Amino acid sequence: MKDYLLDPEAREFRATTREFLQRELAPRSDAIENRQDWAAVKAVVQALGKAHYLTLMFPDLYRGSLSTPGLVHAVILSEEAAAINYAFETTIATAISCAYPLHRYALPDIRAHYLDGIIGGSEIGAICVTEPNVGSDSAGMQTRITFDDTRNEWVINGFKRYISNASVADTYIVYGISNPAVTAQKGMSAVVVPKDTPGIRFPRNYTFMGRRGCIVGEVEFQDCRVPANHLLGRRDEGFRIMLGMFNFERIILGGSGLGQARAAFDIATTHAQRRNSFGQKLGCKQLIWDRVAEMSWRIDAAELLTYKAALLYDAGALSAKELMKPASMAKLVATETALFCADATVQILGGDGLTKEYGRAEQIYRDARALTIVGGTSEMVKYLIASTDMPSIKPNL
Ligand SMILES: Cc1cc2nc3c(=O)[nH]c(=O)nc-3n(C[C@H](O)[C@H](O)[C@H](O)COP(=O)(O)OP(=O)(O)OC[C@H]3O[C@@H](n4cnc5c(N)ncnc54)[C@H](O)[C@@H]3O)c2cc1C
Repeated sequence: MKDYLLDPEAREFRATTREFLQRELAPRSDAIENRQDWAAVKAVVQALGKAHYLTLMFPDLYRGSLSTPGLVHAVILSEEAAAINYAFETTIATAISCAYPLHRYALPDIRAHYLDGIIGGSEIGAICVTEPNVGSDSAGMQTRITFDDTRNEWVINGFKRYISNASVADTYIVYGISNPAVTAQKGMSAVVVPKDTPGIRFPRNYTFMGRRGCIVGEVEFQDCRVPANHLLGRRDEGFRIMLGMFNFERIILGGSGLGQARAAFDIATTHAQRRNSFGQKLGCKQLIWDRVAEMSWRIDAAELLTYKAALLYDAGALSAKELMKPASMAKLVATETALFCADATVQILGGDGLTKEYGRAEQIYRDARALTIVGGTSEMVKYLIASTDMPSIKPNL
């Protein structure tokens, strides 16, 4: 890790974060992967909260030792955590993404009530966008958020699926249509729903090929009511809030991809320098060099794009619309790099790459597969990049 773009304080932060995670996360990683031990996940989240890691991207709330905390540091945290255990990292990345709209758009008393627990590590957050009939096409969502004037409450009806931290989260940010008479861009709202609200149900959790230990499930809302002050931002402003949240989430996902790619690369290069084949080290073979070199340049490219996007975010000079392209490029390149490196590593290890007996290559291969799907698929973020480059035409979705 060369950290080309980072200042000495951020490099020092990486070193202390790595030590912290080696102490708190690494010893619990097997329990998370093999037993899906939620208590182990929760213990590390609490430790991170106590050590001020979950306020890194909210400088006004941060009480740690960094002089200028920001998204750059949150990405370093993501990268270092994903290198050890991606399932754990998705749990905190989701909680941080839930904290983002709360911090930015909630009324002061609501913000204090729901945000403090999440950034303190005692509570967990979740984001509810995806539905059975709507994934990439989030504007087509069917969940309804209507205002009941008689009781001064928002009423939520809908069904969300593939929700990370479903049932274990304490707080849910829910997106839904508040004005069906106009487009979703103009008629979507976002509300905060606490877990104990009557009408919220968690029908089931999914079993995925990877990310074991991160709970992902369904969330159903049946006449679920929250007070008027639980609206985020203004009425019908939800789509704009969601786009800003996706920028933030996609830059964090750049860190997730980098962490997984780097973990795979370390396994592959160690193996290629140890294993003998045809009387030489495996790494002496040109076909292996070629793979190693390609992993290496892809990781560097992903690193540059991810930290460029995080630095741009922290500089605060770009609008959410302007940030969409750098955030999308970071997510695209880092997650595709993780997939490439996970696959190449299994190939370089041969049979050893397919079994749990010789290390984590097979786990990374299963875990990394989700990266190009979650938080906007590779196809969708390519659309966002190209639509910025060709503003006069609308790509045919
Ligand atoms: C492990 C996991 C965790 C998740 N966590 C959350 C969460 O916390 N909160 C949440 O709201 N959601 C979450 N999701 C949902 C995730 O964001 C969606 O899976 C993702 O947006 C894709 O939606 P979809 O699965 O419905 O696929 P679809 O939208 O049905 O797409 C299927 C395929 O078709 C492609 N495609 C679709 N439209 C086009 C087009 N016009 N042109 C070209 N290709 C196209 C897509 O790129 C994809 O490859 C999670 C998903 C997973 C797997």
